[in-house]
Amino acid sequence: MAHLRRFEDLAKANGGNRAAGTPGYEATAAYVEKELKNAGYKPTRQYFEFRFEQVTRTSLTQVSPQQRSVEHNPMSYSPGAPVGGITADLVVPAVATGCDAAAWQGVQATGKIALVQRGTCSFAVKSQMAKAAGASAAIIYNSTDDALSGTLGGPAPDYVPTTGITKAEGESLLAATKAGPVRMTFVLDKIMEQRKTFNIIAETPWGSSDNVVMVGAHLDSVTGGPGINDNGSGSAAILEVARELNKQSNIQGNLKRMPNKVRFAWWGAEEIGLLGSTHYVNDLVATKPDQLKKIATYLNFDMVGSPNYIIGVYDADQSTYKAPVPVPPGSVATEKVFTDYFHAVKQPWVDTEFSGRSDYQAFIVNGVPASGLFTGADGKKSAEEKALFGGTVGETYDPNYHTPQDDLTNIDKTALEINSDAIAHAVLTLATSTKAVNGRS
Ligand SMILES: [Zn+2]
Repeated sequence: MAHLRRFEDLAKANGGNRAAGTPGYEATAAYVEKELKNAGYKPTRQYFEFRFEQVTRTSLTQVSPQQRSVEHNPMSYSPGAPVGGITADLVVPAVATGCDAAAWQGVQATGKIALVQRGTCSFAVKSQMAKAAGASAAIIYNSTDDALSGTLGGPAPDYVPTTGITKAEGESLLAATKAGPVRMTFVLDKIMEQRKTFNIIAETPWGSSDNVVMVGAHLDSVTGGPGINDNGSGSAAILEVARELNKQSNIQGNLKRMPNKVRFAWWGAEEIGLLGSTHYVNDLVATKPDQLKKIATYLNFDMVGSPNYIIGVYDADQSTYKAPVPVPPGSVATEKVFTDYFHAVKQPWVDTEFSGRSDYQAFIVNGVPASGLFTGADGKKSAEEKALFGGTVGETYDPNYHTPQDDLTNIDKTALEINSDAIAHAVLTLATSTKAVNGRS
């Protein structure tokens, strides 16, 4: 909690966030490095370039036939709008999802704002097709009642400024277009430029470099909030484990009982597309493939204090969720370190999908076993989960996910405590032996 308090203070002092490429990230990193040095580590920075994006001003307004503002979320990688915004009539494709040229055939879209339904193809394709048809911007409406907060997936020259709205807003605007012209103004001012950011890597001075246990959490927040649960929680938990690990092993003089090196990573730019962890693994693949093979297993912690929490363990054995990627052998044994612990302390737990939505992705696609813990993000709590963990059925695990409200009050201390203990247990267990994971002691 002391680490999290610092993260919140540093976000507050730096524009309300700790996002990659910002002063808030630099300040957070400096704090983590200082704590690591005090605990006897020699942290290093691994720099990489990325495309920084920040929305500085945005609004979506219906100008006529009535005047009102519309809730919206500009898509990541959307180009900005010209100064003053785009004011134009809405236009609807012949096929509502607007996924190909045929959907726009015969539609006079030049200079207008495309109103497109979610589905069938990616948001990027919808934006590209709207541009190809001559539209000046695109508004995509959701297929559910939730706000639509999407991404175009990466930078490209052939997008129009693109934003997302709810299904209800979309259908109401669609109905209005049937009665006559609907005029909108879409303002989107953005900073978009190449910046540098970095991962922090620190490893125990003891243990064999030939059999390394790797432990990671992303240190960056989104630009839209302080990121105290996502992922101050995982970052703080592994920082405390790192501190205690070096202290414990020194005090008790039992270095020889922990033969494996433990390497901690605080990843940069996870929120922009898992960039830091991907850079780390790709760099090893390209320049030091033997070092990648020496990583026995990777433990990932991305949100371990969600207010409406589950105690989730990445489902390596796919007993509940089929993983969309091949899960390397050794992951099952890694998962079992956590689940055995929870059984031992009589703590209920559930499987959480190996979805590829966090920093373990680059490891598993390159054959490194992985598992980890997760207390939930934008999914909703089921009745079964409430029976195990309490909380609110039908409410998201973290109602403040990626918002300015992801602050210290968004942390469930019980969840943080349970997970911090489990992380400490798993790290000590695997530092002592990875026999079950890779056959090595
Ligand atoms: Zn996260």
